[in-house]
Amino acid sequence: MTSATTTTASRPPLPPPSNFLPVASTHVLASQNSQSAANQSSTSPGPNKPQTASNVAYPEIPRSAAPRMTATATNPNAKLNNPGAYANFISSPLVLSPTVSANCSAPLRDLHLTDPGSGHNSPAASSDTCFDEDDMEIEMTLDFERNKMDLTTTTTTAAIKPPEPPHKIASIINASKSSTEVRNACPTLDAGQFELLRTLGTGTFARVWLVRPRKEHRTSGTEFYALKVLKKKDVVKLKQVEHVLNERMLLSVARPQPFIVDLYASWSDMENLYMLLEYSPGGEVFTYLRKMRRFSHAQTQFYIASVTLILEFLHDRGIVYRDLKPENILLDARGHVKLVDFGFAKKIGSQETYTLCGTPEYLSPEVIQSRGHTTAVDWWALGILTYEFLCGFPPFYDNSPFAIYEKIVQGRISFPAALDATTRDFISRLCEADLTNRLGNLVNGARDVKGHPFFFGVDWKALSEQRMNGPLVPELSFPGDTRYFDEYPLPSPDLEPYQPKLHTRDEEFFKDF
Ligand code: AMP
Repeated sequence: MTSATTTTASRPPLPPPSNFLPVASTHVLASQNSQSAANQSSTSPGPNKPQTASNVAYPEIPRSAAPRMTATATNPNAKLNNPGAYANFISSPLVLSPTVSANCSAPLRDLHLTDPGSGHNSPAASSDTCFDEDDMEIEMTLDFERNKMDLTTTTTTAAIKPPEPPHKIASIINASKSSTEVRNACPTLDAGQFELLRTLGTGTFARVWLVRPRKEHRTSGTEFYALKVLKKKDVVKLKQVEHVLNERMLLSVARPQPFIVDLYASWSDMENLYMLLEYSPGGEVFTYLRKMRRFSHAQTQFYIASVTLILEFLHDRGIVYRDLKPENILLDARGHVKLVDFGFAKKIGSQETYTLCGTPEYLSPEVIQSRGHTTAVDWWALGILTYEFLCGFPPFYDNSPFAIYEKIVQGRISFPAALDATTRDFISRLCEADLTNRLGNLVNGARDVKGHPFFFGVDWKALSEQRMNGPLVPELSFPGDTRYFDEYPLPSPDLEPYQPKLHTRDEEFFKDF
């Protein structure tokens, strides 16, 4: 309900919904109404062409590792007025029901994992934990029961189901890949079957936890998952119901693509929606990029080629991703890309859509100008991503989103001297304002992108079959190692629990989650 699509390119943009994001919409509409430089440049013949000739030195880049904010037309909490383009945008944390919160007597981050076998302590490691010799079983010597975070609510189905025999999570996941009959015969999962070990990351209205099945539900000690928990209350309040349902549906569709994080299962209880995901232990590419300042050509080529395969896969199925950025690209244990966060992804086929969403630095001019957009926005973002990987900062960068939007619409890209002509051409052709000329948006689609000389030497088949390791292979001691993830404060208790009875329409949508 918050997004709008149309089948014709000539259809004028729909007026913003009444709950349109105040700041973002003000920026976009102000730039249109006031005949700002942004809009003037969009109608003049030259300026939209990226400037490829100018050489600039690498400027000092912001060192913050904080995630960039996400702009969405329906998220009133988005801090788009924040003066820093790399402003730390951590959404309101997951808030648990009073019953649940009462169980949290100690911070989860005080529970540490370590692998004495390797003698290596991860940054989050202590001697509180050890592995069984046989199966790497992790045993918490702390009073784990006292310290753990528990998401079981009194209303979950688990509370009324007989506990015996305990279901093994792994076999439920395996069965979910089988025929419909097998799937339907599968018991449903619930949050109470998992131990929440620590927070891996937070999104606008979600918190992602590293979890493992409780002892009676696990098959081996090496079983770790990422559990994305979305509070129904926030999803409803931020008008994200459709986005969340899209995310779940599209992640299921994307299962065979190895560079997209695997969604194993999803379910809901009274308070929350849950998505059980493959754990990607390498952490965000964003973190590596900020630490290394910039990637080499070979590293960039590898990641951009992988993302190109993802976009080809999604676009072939009529899915636009809309939130490409280093924060959403994780690395798996072998250094391969895993794309996460499908919150803004949408199946649009060959239609246009109008919802303003994405991250300011990565928005294309047609999104900013509410001209209606297609899967072509992802190719624009790929150009921005390539630039950011090679330079360490995005091409359109400023302190306020409005200033970023103006630069994007002006379309002048300054390239550091170190970037060769082929790379400049690749970025310029992706960041092309004219949709009829944008690489990836032409008749040959992704094939044009893959055929660009920027990818000289890439063995696409070997890459898609993951025959080689990635250029940066994470050092991991065990499958649940979290050394590549930042620490997060615990969520604060929820003083106003979600009330399903007040949200009967939304509950209808959540029913099949
Ligand atoms: P999201 O709300 O999906 O953007 O997730 C927020 C953050 O949680 C991401 O930026 C990652 O740092 C982390 N995260 C999400 N999914 C996974 C996963 N499958 N494995 C490891 N970390 C994840």
